[in-house]
Amino acid sequence: MKIIDIKENPIKLNLSLSNSMFSFKEMTTSIVKVVIDDGVNTHTGYAFNSTGRYACGDQMRNRFIPRLLNATDNDLLDDDGCIDTMKALHVMLVGEKPGGDMERSVPIGTIETALWDAIAKSKNLPLYKLLSIKFPNYTSTNKMFCYVGGGYYDVGKTIDDLKDEIKRNFDNGYRLMKIKIGGAPIKEDIKRVEAAIEATGSADKVALDANGGLKETNYINYAKELSSYGLKWFEEPTHPSNFQRYNEFIDLYGNAVAGGENLYSIQDFLNLTRYGGFRESQDIIQIDVPQSYGISYFNEVLKELKTINWDVSSIMPHGGNQMSLHIACGFGLSMCEAYPNVFGVFSGYDDDYKLNEGYLELNDNPGIGFEGQNDLFNLFKNIE
Ligand SMILES: [Mg+2]
Repeated sequence: MKIIDIKENPIKLNLSLSNSMFSFKEMTTSIVKVVIDDGVNTHTGYAFNSTGRYACGDQMRNRFIPRLLNATDNDLLDDDGCIDTMKALHVMLVGEKPGGDMERSVPIGTIETALWDAIAKSKNLPLYKLLSIKFPNYTSTNKMFCYVGGGYYDVGKTIDDLKDEIKRNFDNGYRLMKIKIGGAPIKEDIKRVEAAIEATGSADKVALDANGGLKETNYINYAKELSSYGLKWFEEPTHPSNFQRYNEFIDLYGNAVAGGENLYSIQDFLNLTRYGGFRESQDIIQIDVPQSYGISYFNEVLKELKTINWDVSSIMPHGGNQMSLHIACGFGLSMCEAYPNVFGVFSGYDDDYKLNEGYLELNDNPGIGFEGQNDLFNLFKNIE
């Protein structure tokens, strides 16, 4: 097996919505294709770098793509002659200094994920099944509970609009919704939370996401005011690397806290538990796999977290897309997220998927299955 070609194109998301910290108006993402030859056929794998991080084609073209294309068989292949994605990761990391992970973990992880798509296609397996073979220590599944993310702040959006959005999602089969918090004055935010609880019928069907945006002047108030509601979790109350403030927030808030989507290395995730006060079996670590060195590295993260008693049932992927859904199913993670109609063509799953009481069932199409997402695949197939 060999890698024949790797290409990246940047795509603008063209969205007006905002969370507590930034607007998605200028946001871009990299879409990637990797072509491999297995000696019989060629297979094309695809991936994108989730959303929330800008396109990163320059790093790919200047460093990671040439390193892969110039690698020897010995550098890249396993004993069966198949591309070993962990070896591919090491090839991409040649010449890279420890630290500074975010600058390279997104382009590397996106290319690595596209490689998995191509390899799964060459083996005629859906990605989650290939993962269950490669990583047999986990309990893989083809059905995953998906919560729905939304509740963004938007120009002219009222609390009634928020309730309508939540009801629409529940009518469509979702059973847990995460809304944004920290982008309005606290009194209004509390009204939004109470409206969400009313719309879903229960506080444990509502999660909150501050996107690291609570302020020095108000994070204590948010922790105290919202601690008694019984919400599912409170995500990123503080800057992703402000472990001391995470600790303070968890002490005051007491209930489940989530974070990790803006951390990139094994050391980052360990620090969240060592110094951020994250409690195994109560809090949730959310890892954006294509943004943090990809799937093989994710397995290493899970192994390290296991040594400090973190189980996959407290870990979920960030990113509501087919990549994270396969990863959640392949590794038997706690749940997955979904963003129907939020991030344009980068939202959601196979066009034919239907929710059943919050659960999605993967089909057995080979690879990640982007071919079943018509609008997104139209972008992928035109990557030049
Ligand atoms: Mg988040």
